[in-house]
Amino acid sequence: MVDMVAAKILIGRDNNSFMYNPVYPHCCDSCHYATKQEVNPDFRLARQRYDVSCINLHPARKQYDVSYTWDGYLIVSKRFKQFCEEKSYQNAVFHSIPQEPDFYFLESSKIIPLDYARRPVEFIDLCKVCNRYAEVIGMSKNFVQQGFFMEENTFYRTEYDFGSHNRKSPLIIVSLQMAKEMAAQKFKGLYFDDVLK
Ligand SMILES: [Zn+2]
Repeated sequence: MVDMVAAKILIGRDNNSFMYNPVYPHCCDSCHYATKQEVNPDFRLARQRYDVSCINLHPARKQYDVSYTWDGYLIVSKRFKQFCEEKSYQNAVFHSIPQEPDFYFLESSKIIPLDYARRPVEFIDLCKVCNRYAEVIGMSKNFVQQGFFMEENTFYRTEYDFGSHNRKSPLIIVSLQMAKEMAAQKFKGLYFDDVLK
């Protein structure tokens, strides 16, 4: 049987920046890892920088419409936010970034359940105090839980944050239709991975 694509994971290029480094807020007293993501009021995206190893100069990283910090914060441009608002996409929270007025930290609180049995994911070191894993490894080839009905025009997040230690973040997942609409806008830095049925 061929796997059918059910939804798309929204991914952005690396923006070569850290939201925090090395001290994070909201750290658990026991495992000492951050328990939630929050904008650092001093955060700035890495300045313009070119890759001189290539013949073509790469665009400035600050110009990405969709990008991730090294520590897993999804950063989007004002243009991306405006587009989402025009389309009335639901369950997106755009947090302002004081030092970067043209960019936002994007979150969603609506959970899409993935099938963690069909695609083995490694859950490492559950902390009994914050109830979070130190590491959740194994991101690619995701399957949505069978029978889950996904709403249109809605941003979803996975229940677990993927990655390690203070570099974990949920996957942000959108419908096929939303991914198509976003792709048509040619947002810089934006690409997608599949969530299968
Ligand atoms: Zn903990």
